[in-house]
Amino acid sequence: MGHKIATTDMIIIGTGPVGLFAVFEAGLLGLKCHLIDNLDRAGGQCIELYPEKPIYDIPSRPAVTGQELVDDLMQQASPFDPTFHLSQQAESLKKLDNGHWRVTTTREHVIDAPIVVVAAGAGSFVAKKPPYKKLAEFEEKSIDYAVHKMEKYKGKNLVIVGGGDSALDWAVNLAPIAGRITLVHRREEFRGAYDTAQQMLALAAKGILDVEYGNVTDLVGVDGQLANVEITTLKGEVLNVACDYMLPFMGLKVKLGPIAEWGLNLDRKNVEVNPETFETTQEGIYAIGDVCIYPSKIKLILTGFYEAAVMVRAAFKYAFPDRKMAGGYTTTNTVIQERLGVADK
Ligand SMILES: Cc1cc2nc3c(=O)[nH]c(=O)nc-3n(C[C@H](O)[C@H](O)[C@H](O)COP(=O)(O)OP(=O)(O)OC[C@H]3O[C@@H](n4cnc5c(N)ncnc54)[C@H](O)[C@@H]3O)c2cc1C
Repeated sequence: MGHKIATTDMIIIGTGPVGLFAVFEAGLLGLKCHLIDNLDRAGGQCIELYPEKPIYDIPSRPAVTGQELVDDLMQQASPFDPTFHLSQQAESLKKLDNGHWRVTTTREHVIDAPIVVVAAGAGSFVAKKPPYKKLAEFEEKSIDYAVHKMEKYKGKNLVIVGGGDSALDWAVNLAPIAGRITLVHRREEFRGAYDTAQQMLALAAKGILDVEYGNVTDLVGVDGQLANVEITTLKGEVLNVACDYMLPFMGLKVKLGPIAEWGLNLDRKNVEVNPETFETTQEGIYAIGDVCIYPSKIKLILTGFYEAAVMVRAAFKYAFPDRKMAGGYTTTNTVIQERLGVADK
């Protein structure tokens, strides 16, 4: 494969609130983590589905929005310097001769560790695909469902499809570097944030980008490379717009994805665990948060936090039986405080 292999103590699949809190709990025990998520930012459902909505049942937080909770979890995990592999799916899992696990991502990052934690929620958020007839013909070379590097679009003609936050954000953010941007939306109201919609419309008013209300009705190009996109507007006009890359942002759906093929016991889309350890049927593989199931399971953030705390201790004992585990409280244990970088405070 020729790719560098990273080694760590714990590979966490999913950067939802529960995966993030597991980094903190693991860090208290001196364990290092690599995290994988196929979204381009951490936060799972809190960020993707309700960033602005208040959550009322996090202990000691009378009200905290999805975004604030994730920002605080990131800050809480930061002393332990986790490594994030974002915009990629954990694709394959293999047991190595030394008993460790190897996870390979869809961007061919290879990570080895004695402990794998599946904190995959309801599964990976994957882009909904538009229903264009010739989609498959152009998908590989000319259609992107996420922006990995903005540089790729420098000077290029882009057709962005959608009216939600991603479509609006990328229209605004790519406007200074792209060639020409055409935003296509099927109606004149936008689902995304009001402020971003206003910014986008201001750019359109200045002639920096084009907005067309209507639908994409044909894709034209050669050998998988788009040249033009045909748009039929709500008024019935047919436009042909030059296009190097099309970026459809039509929302996300959730799929358990490759984890379903990993030989773990599944009960519908949930991974069965032993509630004393959160270990799955495979040694060294644990599951916490919304993805795991056991008789008294409640799918809430607070239960996921508890599961993370129990799981890291069980996983530590399994993977490092000869190491002494730092026990006690964060308020009084000096080893833990050194790890947190607050020893003299
Ligand atoms: C509208 C709404 C309101 C809610 N309100 C509350 C509330 O008030 N209180 C409360 O406690 N809970 C609430 N919840 C539920 C709460 O959001 C979930 O319990 C919580 O997000 C579960 O966290 P998690 O970390 O287990 O999973 P998630 O937040 O689902 O994160 C899982 C992450 O794993 C990633 N992933 C999955 N598979 C892979 C893979 N193979 N490769 C790479 N990445 C992968 C996904 O992309 C995702 O980012 C609400 C949920 C919704 C939808």
